[in-house]
Amino acid sequence: MQEQNYNKVDLHCHSHFSDGSLSPEQLISRASANGVDLLAVTDHDTIDGVKLLLKQPSNLPLTLIPAAEISSSWENKDIHIVALGVDINNKIFSEFLKQQLRKRQQRGLLLIDKFENRLKIKEVAKKLKVYAKGEIICRSHFAQLLVDEGLAVDFRRAFERFLAKGKIAAVNSEWPDIQHSIKAIIAAGGIATLAHPTRYKLSNSRLYELIEYFSRVGGRAIEMAYPGIKPQQQRQLARVAKEFGLFASKGSDFHHPQQVWADLGKVPSLPVDIEPVWEQFDFNK
Ligand code: AMP
Ligand code: MN
Ligand code: MN
Ligand code: MN
Repeated sequence: MQEQNYNKVDLHCHSHFSDGSLSPEQLISRASANGVDLLAVTDHDTIDGVKLLLKQPSNLPLTLIPAAEISSSWENKDIHIVALGVDINNKIFSEFLKQQLRKRQQRGLLLIDKFENRLKIKEVAKKLKVYAKGEIICRSHFAQLLVDEGLAVDFRRAFERFLAKGKIAAVNSEWPDIQHSIKAIIAAGGIATLAHPTRYKLSNSRLYELIEYFSRVGGRAIEMAYPGIKPQQQRQLARVAKEFGLFASKGSDFHHPQQVWADLGKVPSLPVDIEPVWEQFDFNK
């Protein structure tokens, strides 16, 4: 493996091909202006933005890792798996993403129906097009609509009052078990990385069980540096990662420039005693 030194690494962010508000090109410019020199664009269940950027890779001011954030489930919980370094032409992975898209479209139709019939919002599909520039429809687009229609003051409350389990616009997401997502990621030569493990509201012992299962079915890395994570949580994750021989990843989970606490490249440091996942890639710089 060649020597690879990067000053600022961000391996988790979203463009307007999923629920971010910047185009892939704007994302690259902002990341570069913030000093990021190694970036993974990780849109929810799509690599369309990455494909666009990789049409002219020599124009990029930074090194780009082809990636996506895969919606998955484990014991009835939504769990996100970041696919790092996937071959964007891999047939198995492309077919897998098509199925994810179909699930999102079906769930989107159910949500549109609820918004129109229960919440009495008109022309929902047309309004959503303003936020969703690609094919992927996310619940966060519906949250944005609730805010713009004056039904919620912010995203958090839109989720809490309308989109959460048991609320008027709740829908079931039928995401594949993490085992299936990881299989598709491995088929495309990618490294399956557990996204933001402390955001799933799991007890320590349940989180340990998740990581044990994740590792057993082929997961290779864990995010342990992202906005909001506490040093004590980082230490604990580093301990568990070492136990299972997992690498560490970091990322802002950037969506919108207004969310200043999660700007591109604005990520805490990794614990010092753990191997960064990006050292596994051969970038041919
Ligand atoms: P989906 O993958 O379509 O179910 O949408 C999930 C996305 O919605 C996440 O990636 C977040 O960006 C956003 N999200 C989920 N829960 C919340 C919340 N409580 N507050 C704000 N954004 C949320
Ligand atoms: Mn999102
Ligand atoms: Mn996520
Ligand atoms: Mn994300």
